[in-house]
Amino acid sequence: MSQEKSAIKKIRATGAMREVMGEYFQELDQASRADSAKVAWCTSVGPAELLRSFGFRVYFPENHGALLGSSRMAADVIPAATAAGYSPEICSYLTSDIGAYLKKTTPLTKAFGMESIPKPDVLVYNTNQCRDVQDWFGFYQREFGVPLIGIETPRSVSDVTREMVEGLIAQEMALIPTLEEVSGVSFDLDRLKEVTASSYRCTLLWKKVLRIAEAQPSPITFFDGTIHMGPAVVLRGDERAEHYYEVLLSELSERVDKGVGAVDGETYRLYWEGMPVWGKLRSNAEQFAANRACVVASTYCNSWIFEDLACDDPFEGMARAYTELFIVRSEDYKERYMESMVSDYDINGIIYHDAKTCPNNSNCRYGMHRRLSERLGIPHVVIDGDLNDLRLYSEEQARTQFDALVEQLQEQPA
Ligand code: SF4
Repeated sequence: MSQEKSAIKKIRATGAMREVMGEYFQELDQASRADSAKVAWCTSVGPAELLRSFGFRVYFPENHGALLGSSRMAADVIPAATAAGYSPEICSYLTSDIGAYLKKTTPLTKAFGMESIPKPDVLVYNTNQCRDVQDWFGFYQREFGVPLIGIETPRSVSDVTREMVEGLIAQEMALIPTLEEVSGVSFDLDRLKEVTASSYRCTLLWKKVLRIAEAQPSPITFFDGTIHMGPAVVLRGDERAEHYYEVLLSELSERVDKGVGAVDGETYRLYWEGMPVWGKLRSNAEQFAANRACVVASTYCNSWIFEDLACDDPFEGMARAYTELFIVRSEDYKERYMESMVSDYDINGIIYHDAKTCPNNSNCRYGMHRRLSERLGIPHVVIDGDLNDLRLYSEEQARTQFDALVEQLQEQPA
């Protein structure tokens, strides 16, 4: 098997993305230090549109967790959270983030010149993804003494029922009095509709970015996607995110028109199920590229597509969008979803990342990987690892497993 490294192709729009992200963080920093605007902390698939409609600057601790992982600071700070009583077996975004807070450090200093993370005026969660987020925000409630409010969403959902949606709408509406009090702004339905419409347009553009990978060769990899999803995560509902994806899409369309793939000589098309290993993005990307394998699609990047926001009623749109997510759904639904992705993207093999501290995003624990491979007739591999805690990841073992998958693909009849 070839060990020659293919160059990772640089996406020109990366510069524009860094600018947008830089502006976003500077605004948060300014709001926090000069008290020029109120800051709301929000879980990644929490009601960001509602918060923006009140004029809050919205900060996402999970995004900070990912930065701690990709900057490889996580290993240095996790022990501080462990010493404070947070188990090393729970979410390593949580332990990295709380550990960094306790050690008074942040990757935002090097990346954006910020001395510290922005201070919250209110903490808003949605348990649609896991319970860890509630405990995570609970730590900061005790630290900062600000309101902690949230939405509790059912999990392992097969069909999203009317009753469920109505319950979630009621929970969203119950957040309003606290948000009005903290922001000093009265709720404005028209403003919420505007923000939700912008968020929906952003979703459609982000979906196009991901769907362009159906082209053969694909102009973008999963590893690129994990970087370029930043604006869709932290700036949905802000028109700057839309503008950024227009720029990115135009570059990717140009690649498709010219037949330029993200991986030279693309021969195998793979699907990544689960979280990225943030501290190993580059080496993972290089290994696949060296083997002419392109990871073209993933559950993770697709989790920021919220098409239900199209609804005329923004409360119902948010309730559906943040419940019809892959992570919230039953095993049957997940299997059907994966099956359709394999078909749409013409996938040859699947990588399952069993992230030890995130069972919620690890879908190879109840046999799905075996069932899908049997049904679809495509190979898979399970890699043991973690999103942030690199003590749980063995580069050598992962390399052997990736290679084993490529070898299986090479042995398949053309
Ligand atoms: S879904 Fe996983 S990674 Fe995300 S906050 Fe929950 S435990 Fe952490």
